[in-house]
Amino acid sequence: MSGLDLLRAEQYGLFIDGTWRPAEGGAQFDVLDPADESVLAKVADASVKDAQDALDAAVAAQDSWAATPPRERGEILRRAFELINARADDFAELMSLEMGKPIAEAKGEVTYGNEFFRWFSEEAVRVHGRWMQAPAGGSRLLTIRKPVGPCLFITPWNFPLAMGTRKIGPAIAAGCTMVVKPAELTPLTMLALAGVLTEAGLPAGVLNIVPSTHASDISQALMDDSRLRKVSFTGSTAVGRVLVGQSAGQLQRMSMELGGNAPFIVFEDADLDAAVEGAMVAKMRNMGEACTAANRFLVHADVADEFAQKLAERMGKLTVGRGQTPGVDVGPLIEEKAVKSVTQLVDDAVSAGAKVITGGSAPDGPGFFYNPTVLLDVKPDAPIVSQEIFGPVAPITTFASEEEAVRRANATEYGLASYVYTNDLTRTIRMAEALEYGMVGVNTGLLSNAAAPFGGVKASGFGREGSFEGIDEYLDTTYVNLPV
Ligand code: ADP
Repeated sequence: MSGLDLLRAEQYGLFIDGTWRPAEGGAQFDVLDPADESVLAKVADASVKDAQDALDAAVAAQDSWAATPPRERGEILRRAFELINARADDFAELMSLEMGKPIAEAKGEVTYGNEFFRWFSEEAVRVHGRWMQAPAGGSRLLTIRKPVGPCLFITPWNFPLAMGTRKIGPAIAAGCTMVVKPAELTPLTMLALAGVLTEAGLPAGVLNIVPSTHASDISQALMDDSRLRKVSFTGSTAVGRVLVGQSAGQLQRMSMELGGNAPFIVFEDADLDAAVEGAMVAKMRNMGEACTAANRFLVHADVADEFAQKLAERMGKLTVGRGQTPGVDVGPLIEEKAVKSVTQLVDDAVSAGAKVITGGSAPDGPGFFYNPTVLLDVKPDAPIVSQEIFGPVAPITTFASEEEAVRRANATEYGLASYVYTNDLTRTIRMAEALEYGMVGVNTGLLSNAAAPFGGVKASGFGREGSFEGIDEYLDTTYVNLPV
């Protein structure tokens, strides 16, 4: 077996009501290999009508799915978890092919993404309400938790498996049905996931998948339908704003995981080697194509040169190449547009006076590659530190005091991930409280964990994925007053 073998011929189609079928009119679109720009696969291109059929299937399945015992729903997730584990290498290769990340990282994503299935297989049986006496006595106040109903999931291309499992897992556990519109750049992993969930016993209509190049037409049409009750979106803040606007019509519940501008703050008392190690993870995981990626380094002026030299030394030794080649550390970016955008940000910073310590350009040849780059003396207001880079570039700025570090870290519309390196315990507490972020990593460059509530504040969105909070997004509360 290899990655593409996970998909049988019909699995390049739409998955609606438990069957695979072509798109209306036989429409298809190409999925490219970002390492050489060749066509990896052709996938059915769902029309609005196809997506409406998918919603019809989800609506038709909702009542019986909600009535399915929680243990049964949990066991389907658990079986899917075991199946994915057994095929972890194939999932990793498939993701690496369509998205570009190195195999080792893709394996990491299989482990991480699959944990959402295991976690929510366990949470499925722990949904419960309350029973209490009214403060004035008499009435008993009960709460019942019910699945919110049919959901629409729109997922991004950067984590093709995990961005699916952390929505699909809790929805299955809570008893919701769903239509998934995967990113058009990387739909294959989601199609493989549908195969695994079917094998695990998921009933027809619970999960429907509609790859499409008509994302906005589809989301608009489905959100105009009052039968759709919930939307969970992971992607850019710009698109999130559009979707929240569209939700006003039928008042769907929304979960938004949007952009980030993560500060990576290194204090003068930090263990610098550990900070460099953490920086490599926070910056280079997924080639920097993560909303949690360290986007700007704020380093105390006393240690900035040493930190920059050490980081540049590590970054300069990374091997850039096709993700499936052994020994490669850094794969291609997702598309040409991404390389152009990173190039522009770096060039602007350099013309404004930043120093390139390593990298600073795209290599020649095919594929969407960009060399790992470290920039020193970056101006605090440069576009490269105010915009999401989504590439392997570390811009370093300096600060003089804790107060300045906090002020600059918070001076962004975003509030997703942040990282702090310090060995001072009281400073750690002050920073965790002062940073206006949904997540703070202390002396670590890695935040993602299925048992932790992932999510942001401000323009990074709202709602949490994973942990105990993750299933709440898929449950409504009914309160019952029972006078006795
Ligand atoms: P990125 O910039 O990371 O590609 P996007 O927000 O553009 O992020 O895309 C994330 C997901 O949102 C993808 O599945 C994409 O197809 C979908 N998408 C893009 N534009 C829209 C839109 N206007 N309405 C609904 N979905 C959209």
